[in-house]
Amino acid sequence: MKEIDLRSDTVTRPTKEMLQAIMTAPVGDDVYKEDPTVNKLEQKLADMFGMDEALFFPTGSMANQAGIKLHTQPGEQLICDKWAHVYNYEGGGVSFNSGVSCKLVDGDRGMITAKQVEESINPPDFYHSPLTSLVCLENTTNKGGGACYDLEEVKKIRKVCDRHGLGLHLDGARLFNAIVKNDEDPKTYGKIFDTISVCLSKGLGTPMGSVLLGKRDLMKNAIRVRKVLGGGMRQVGFMAAAGIYALDNHLGQLKKDNERASEIARQLDDLSYIGKVEPVETNIIIFYLKDPEDESKFIDELSKENIRISNMGQGKLRIVTHLDYSEEMHLHFQKVLRGIAL
Ligand SMILES: *Cc1c(COP(=O)(O)O)cnc(C)c1O
Repeated sequence: MKEIDLRSDTVTRPTKEMLQAIMTAPVGDDVYKEDPTVNKLEQKLADMFGMDEALFFPTGSMANQAGIKLHTQPGEQLICDKWAHVYNYEGGGVSFNSGVSCKLVDGDRGMITAKQVEESINPPDFYHSPLTSLVCLENTTNKGGGACYDLEEVKKIRKVCDRHGLGLHLDGARLFNAIVKNDEDPKTYGKIFDTISVCLSKGLGTPMGSVLLGKRDLMKNAIRVRKVLGGGMRQVGFMAAAGIYALDNHLGQLKKDNERASEIARQLDDLSYIGKVEPVETNIIIFYLKDPEDESKFIDELSKENIRISNMGQGKLRIVTHLDYSEEMHLHFQKVLRGIAL
C-alpha cells in the first residue's frame, strides 16, 4: 500500500488533469496585472461570492495578514477566538505586520458568539485601552476540528460589528468544506463579510494559492499591502490555472472528504483504546487515546503500515481527509485501526 498521509489536506499533489491545465495556461506578468489566468481566477471567485474584488496570494497566511492590515491601524485591537489561526499559526504576524493586538475569546470549538463579541469591544472613548476595530472569524475552524458556524449567529455578529463600526474578516481557509457540507450559497458569505480569504491548496488540492475577497473601498489598498508583504508574483497564472481547474472539478469531492471523516470518527468511537472523539462536521477529526501514554506506540503502529497522522500535543491527535485519500486507502486505514491492540 502506498503511503496514506492524513496529517493535513495540504499534502495533495496535482492530478494529471490539473497539471495539464497548469501547462497550457496563458500567462503574463501579474505584478502589472497582465496575467489573464490570474485575472480570470480572481473574477471567478469575486463572482462566486458576489464580492467587488479579489486578489491572488501565495498563501492563506498572507491573505489573512493583508486582510487584517486593510482593516486596522497600529495600536488597535482585533477580536478572535483563542484558537484562531490568525493568532496561533501565523507567526505573530498580527503584531509584526499590522501592530495590532488580539482580544482572545473563549469560544466553542473555535467559534465565538455575537454576545461574546459585544462583551469584548473596548469602549471607544476610553483612551487607555486599544481601539477595537476588527472581528476575525474562522470557518471551518482548524484547531476546533472543522466545526462550522451557524450562519444565523454570524449574521448577529455582523449586526454587532455594524453597531460599533467594526470590520468583519473571515478566515475561510476551509470555507468550501462548510459550504458543501451545509449546502450554502457563497454569496451569503459575500453579503455578510467585508473581507474573506479562501485557500485553494487545502481541500481543493492545488499546489499553492489563496484569494482575498473584499469590498471595493477596502480592497483598493490590497495590492499595495501584498507588495509590501512580498507577495507580488509574476507569471503565476500557472498556479491560478490550478485554482480554476479545482473550482470547476474538485468542489464535489469535498463531500466525499467530509463523509469519510465521519466514517472514520464513527469507527474510532467503537475502538476500545480510543478516548474522546470530537464531533466531526467536515474533514477534520480530533480525538484522544484512552491512555495518553500509548500515543507514541499508536503512531508507531500506524507508521509501520505507512500511515501518517498529526500529533497536536496535549493528547490531541488529528486526522484530515483530502483529495488524495482514496476509497482503497479508506478501507485499508479502517482495517488497520481495527487491528491495532494497545
Ligand atoms: C491553513 C490555514 C490558513 C493558511 O495557511 P497557509 O499555510 O499560510 O496557506 C489560514 N487559516 C486556517 C484556519 C488554516 O487552516
